[in-house]
Amino acid sequence: MKKLSIAMLSMVLAGSMLLTACGGGNTQPAENTGSDDTQQSETAENTEGGVLRMGTNATFPPYEYMDENNEVAGIDAEIAAAIADKLGMELEITDMAFESLIPALQAGTIDIVLAGMTVDPERAEQVNFTDTYATGVQVVIVPENSDIAPVENEEGAMEVDLTGKTIGVQTGTTGDLYCTDDYGQEFVKQFDNGPLAVAALMNGQVDCVVIDNEPAKNYVAANEGLKILDTAFANEDYAAAIAKDNTELFEQVNTAIQELKADGTIQTIIEKYIPAEAE
Ligand code: GLN
Repeated sequence: MKKLSIAMLSMVLAGSMLLTACGGGNTQPAENTGSDDTQQSETAENTEGGVLRMGTNATFPPYEYMDENNEVAGIDAEIAAAIADKLGMELEITDMAFESLIPALQAGTIDIVLAGMTVDPERAEQVNFTDTYATGVQVVIVPENSDIAPVENEEGAMEVDLTGKTIGVQTGTTGDLYCTDDYGQEFVKQFDNGPLAVAALMNGQVDCVVIDNEPAKNYVAANEGLKILDTAFANEDYAAAIAKDNTELFEQVNTAIQELKADGTIQTIIEKYIPAEAE
């Protein structure tokens, strides 16, 4: 399975290098210096003056999505641009399957992941996580007329039991891991991305989708007849991930994130995409 995803990843990367060579790649300068220095991208070091190669999965609005110019936009792209700016680096974003992100870090084909990626102990054995920069909640999306409903547990919190239901998830996400652990693999259908899982829900192929709350809100707004259950399946923290052996970059990025948190930049970026809800 790992071998397969690495092979697929190299195909994706080969494809994107081809695009870059043709001038159609998704290279986004951290700041507009007015000079065309994108030629350096293949040889540059991952330090000042170099290229910060970020991997993400751009089907996860508002954290990352493809904008009308076919470039990766969203909270993570803006935070990464602010980090690259602080480090004096040029940001280059590659879109790939979520489950390919950690293998790509380990293979050294990308330097950093910002992908609404949840800090999780198993992942932390494979990569280093920076300080967290946002929070997420795993939620359950169901059709409006679904019989799946949260009930109050002994502590007075709303809880949902998905036993026996067919659950759609995005492969390799925490939603996938939790549901596989809790309900068994035979009840969990994996999809390459959230929109495909939601399409399967619309077609009746799955009974519900477990996914992060902000993308869930976007998917529900884009598809009629769906709702998000009033229950928090799990609360999570998002952080950037960097390869274990890339300690110099890790220190620089972590300091940048700490500064961008302290001066309110990250909060401003998040609020631009997720306006504080009126209580
Ligand atoms: N937060 C979830 C995870 O880390 C999903 C992230 C995503 O799909 N981009 O697994």
